Amino acid sequence: MVRGRFAPSPTGELHAGSLVSALASWLDARSLKGEWWVRMEDVDGPRCIDGAAAKILQQLSLCGLHSDGEVLYQSHRSNIYQQVLNQLIDKGLAYPCACTRKEIEELQVSLGLSLERHTSAVYPGTCRSGLNGKPARAWRFNVTQWSHIRGSPEVHWTDRRLGPQVQNVQEEVGDFVLKRADGLWAYQLAVVVDDAAQGITHVVRGEDLTDNTARQYLLQEALGFEHPQYMHMPLVLCDNGEKLSKQNGAKALDLSSSKAFCLAMQSAASTLGLSTLKLNACDSADLDEALSTWTQEWAQRHVRATP
Ligand code: GLU
Repeated sequence: MVRGRFAPSPTGELHAGSLVSALASWLDARSLKGEWWVRMEDVDGPRCIDGAAAKILQQLSLCGLHSDGEVLYQSHRSNIYQQVLNQLIDKGLAYPCACTRKEIEELQVSLGLSLERHTSAVYPGTCRSGLNGKPARAWRFNVTQWSHIRGSPEVHWTDRRLGPQVQNVQEEVGDFVLKRADGLWAYQLAVVVDDAAQGITHVVRGEDLTDNTARQYLLQEALGFEHPQYMHMPLVLCDNGEKLSKQNGAKALDLSSSKAFCLAMQSAASTLGLSTLKLNACDSADLDEALSTWTQEWAQRHVRATP
């Protein structure tokens, strides 16, 4: 059974960029005759906005995209994440960390290493062999130990659109965070646990998340989970070439009039390289027809190529 998913963070309403991910994941699941589930990634409570999850579901529904399963809220799953963290601790694959961000960055600089990569420094492994009496702040995945057990620090995986990928997680990321110093669950842990718990077989999401996949692969291996197939789609960019996001002021989708709605759907389809159909009446029959044509186009382009 194929099962895809759309996993928005309810830090605001859907915008043009998130509609592209939603539509792509839906078309992929439908073209494989599978299910499509929505999951609310609201682990980062302080960044979430009241009412945004409900609004996102309403926007998706207006676009003809309905979750086949019950919508899962990550904020309700803290106990499960803790159990999984405990499993990793028991296997010697997670350890507490006392370092502050500033300390990690200072150490990076003193080692002459660059501070690029989403502005977060590669973790140098300071607390891997103990806290030296300092209080634990965060919990980290022991990439070094797992790389040793699996026999290589390099993760190879194949993206259905971008082709073969490789990342040396140990060198390029280091031991990454599973539970943050503020007590919140890290995206990597929550996403891997939930993709497995929900039986997700196909992940389709924005290209900006491509380099998270190797970390997710390692966690899936360490926990004995199957790897879903991954496909990363083009991003909607703003005028300055940056990814359109809530942080840089992306406007909420305007679905208030038929015309605005048609424009939003057509523009999402065109970002995905699908034909720009005329949505004449912009009613539900019209939308169903467009979704079914796009599903066929998607199947021709992407599904035959699936390994
Ligand atoms: N919640 C993430 C976001 O909104 C998406 C995570 C994923 O698709 O793996 O950016």
